[in-house]
Order: sequence, then C-alpha cells, then structure tokens
Amino acid sequence: MSTLFISDLHLENARPLITNLLGVFLQTRARTADALYILGDLFESWIGDDFLDDTARRVAADLADLARNGVPIFFMHGNRDFLLGKDYAAMAGFSLLPESVVINFYGVPTLLLHVDTLCTDDVEYQKFRSQVRNPQFQAGFLRLPVEQRLAMAAGARDASKKHTGKANMSIMDVNEQAVVAEFERNGIVRMIHGHTHRPAFHQHALSANAAAERIVLSEWHGRGSFPHGSYLEVDENGCRSVPLEA
Ligand code: MN
Repeated sequence: MSTLFISDLHLENARPLITNLLGVFLQTRARTADALYILGDLFESWIGDDFLDDTARRVAADLADLARNGVPIFFMHGNRDFLLGKDYAAMAGFSLLPESVVINFYGVPTLLLHVDTLCTDDVEYQKFRSQVRNPQFQAGFLRLPVEQRLAMAAGARDASKKHTGKANMSIMDVNEQAVVAEFERNGIVRMIHGHTHRPAFHQHALSANAAAERIVLSEWHGRGSFPHGSYLEVDENGCRSVPLEA
C-alpha cells in the first residue's frame, strides 16, 4: 500500500481536461491508496465556499466518492485556494490540514507544506501574503458580494501574473537557508511540497552532518487535448513520481 500526493492542479472551468484527468485518477489509482494528500492550489482561485462553479462541484463529488470508498483525503491550502473552508471540505469529504504539518509515513516523519512560506526572497509576495492571510481581512472579504469578490480575485491574479513575469526567476523558488532552517526546526529529514512548479528530488546538507531530501511535486498542465499530471507515491521503499496522461 502507498500514500499519494498531488498539488498545483490549478483547476478551473477553462481547463476541463485537467479536471477529467483528476476524475479518472480518483476513480482508478487513488482507490487503492492508504490516503490522498492534496498540498495546495487544487483550484486556480477560490472566493468562498458560498460560490461554487461547475468545476468545484464536480471535484467535490469526485473526491467525496473516493472518501466514501474508504480512502482518507487531506487538503492543505495553496496561495490560490487559501479561502477554501469547512463547508467545502465537508462536501468533498476531506480534512483540512494546517499550513505545515509533520506526519509519519511508513516510519519517516515528513514535513508537508505548500511552501510559499519558504519563498522568502520574494519580499513583495510575502507582504501580500501576510495581508490576505490575516483572519480579519479574510472575514471582511468573505462578506462582500460575489461579483465584487470575483473582480478582486481577477485583479489579484493579474497583479500576480505581472509580478511573476517581471520578477527574477530565482526569487520565485524557495530560499535555501529557509529550507535548511525548516528541516532543523522540525527535526526531520524529508519534506514534500508543491507551489514552485519545479518538480524535483533535492538533497540538502544539514548542519548535523545529516542529509535531507526535499521532494517538489509537479503541477498539472496542458491547455490543449493533452493534459498532463503526476502524483507522488510514498511507501516503505521510498518516494516515486508517477506521470498521468489522458
Ligand atoms: Mn502555489
């Protein structure tokens, strides 16, 4: 048996084939998993559980079906879907995780996080993050009419695209010192995260002469008729990335 990890699907109505690919994965490979972990940015944007588009409804049904089949599902917020709340979690049959958590998988304590918190070189993003993650800001936002929230979310996405386009690529990745500090603070030697869209298996040297591994999940992509995704499979033998194609 194994535990599966996915992240950064960025699901939206405009890319139904990615949602289809997820649906097939949930009905096939995921059915025999010990558990499924979603490490953020399942959705391209989220303005509140009271506004569910077709994609959000369909994904909730597909996830709830997997949960009913006995596979526990855990969800961690990304920087796109951080407003996803308890109502949707109940509807989709998953448990909400905090922004970072250590869980023992097959004997290896493993830190899970979306990882935008460790992209500390992107000062502009971190400022934005601390503003929008403020509970008072969020409560105020969620009270606004849907149209206004949609407009604000679209504005934030445009600003983010502009920022991503002009920022030095290196600041969009994790900060090496922040990563090492996070390993040492948690006393662990394995970390799994998404967010950066730079899938890899990294090795890090820790100060205690220990080696740590950092596994970066792949985003799901493809706008045409060839959607691609992948999941990470973890068991007692280690971790493997497995590609998914329609
Ligand atoms: Mn992200």
